[in-house]
Order: sequence, then C-alpha cells, then structure tokens
Amino acid sequence: MREVSRFETTAQSLSGAMSTIVLRESLQRLALVDELTGLPNRRAFMSGATRIAGRARRSRETIVVAMFDVDRFKSINDQLGHDEGDRVLRRLAEIATATFRQEDLVGRLGGEESGILLVGAEDGVRKRLEFLRETIERAGILRDRAVTVSVGYAVGSPGDPQPLDVLLKAADTALYAAKNAGRNRVMPEAGAPPA
Ligand code: GH3
Ligand code: MG
Ligand code: MG
Repeated sequence: MREVSRFETTAQSLSGAMSTIVLRESLQRLALVDELTGLPNRRAFMSGATRIAGRARRSRETIVVAMFDVDRFKSINDQLGHDEGDRVLRRLAEIATATFRQEDLVGRLGGEESGILLVGAEDGVRKRLEFLRETIERAGILRDRAVTVSVGYAVGSPGDPQPLDVLLKAADTALYAAKNAGRNRVMPEAGAPPA
C-alpha cells in the first residue's frame, strides 16, 4: 500500500514537471511562431536573419533580403471575409516555405507582409523571386481571381557588407516601388544591376 502511494506521489510530481516543460515550450513557441501561418514571427525572423547574416559575412557569402506583400489584400478581406483572408495568408506561407531552400528563412513580418533571407543567392535571385511570384499567381488560391504579390529585394554582397536593417529598408523601398509600378512584380533595390 505504501509502495502504491509512493508511486502515485512520484507520478504526480513527474506529471507536474512535465506540464511545466510543456508549458514553457508552448510559451516559447508563442513568442516566436506566428499563430496564423506557423511561420517565424517578426522577432524570430529578425534574430534568425541576424544570425544567418553574421555567418554569411564571416564566410564572405552574399545574402539577399526580400519582402513581399499581398496585392489589394484589403479587397479580398472586404469582399470575401476575414476568414477567407486568413486562409489566403496560410496558403501563401505554405507556398513560400515550399519554394525556398531549407537554409533560407521565411517569416511573417506583420499583416500580409513577409520577409525572406536567402544566402549565397546573388546568381539567379531575380529568377527565384519571380518563380515565387508566378507560383502564387497560378496557385488558384481563390476561385474567381488570382492572388498576387509584389516583391522587393536588396543584395548584400561580401565586398560591400551592409547591416541587416539597411538591407531590410532597401527591400522595403523596392517593394514600395513594385507597388507603384503596378503590383504583381519583382523589383530590385534602386540602382542595383539587373540580376
Ligand atoms: P496593396 O496592394 O497596396 O498592398 O493594398 P492592400 O489592400 O493589400 O494594403 P493595405 O495595407 O491597405 O491592406 C492590408 C490589409 O491586410 C488590411 C488588414 O486588415 C489586412 N490584414 C492584416 N493582417 C491580417 C490577418 O491576419 N488576416 C486578415 N484576414 N487580414 C489581415
Ligand atoms: Mg498589401
Ligand atoms: Mg501591407
């Protein structure tokens, strides 16, 4: 009898410890993972990107920072409802994650805006981002219309190392230019040679 109650006490304290671990893990997850899309959130993207950029700088590899934003997303929400808008964001996250390599980083920066960090990707970066844009356009996410995105990007070459926030700002400016040029397109930072 005493053995049984000792067993029960042990089991109880074990399960208490377990739930502490589970709780801690889910709290950590909550702070780093975007709940809607499962992508790294802004904070996680920034810390991951900082780590990857530092490593790339030491190994003298090029990094590319890209940002993409859904075109006329407000009208999708307004016409089809917020839940349908959420579904669009989840599908876009799946497509973006599937499009890039394991070593690249995709994150939700906020709202309907995402960031991508590509390593060693100067050659063909434009093509890879075009592929993302085109895949999204053709994915048939909504029945009656194409969902499109605009993409801006900036290249940080090893010969001209720029801080991550400068690259992000340049990608954001390029994204804005892509919107102004008519949306559904990929735009390099101003002054960049065509890649
Ligand atoms: P543009 O082509 O210039 O990007 O136009 P837009 O309509 O996409 O841009 P705007 O910034 O005006 O609208 C973004 C909308 O995204 C507004 C906001 O309600 C919506 N949004 C932000 N986060 C979420 C979300 O998690 N779910 C849904 N369904 N909508 C969201
Ligand atoms: Mg938008
Ligand atoms: Mg936006």
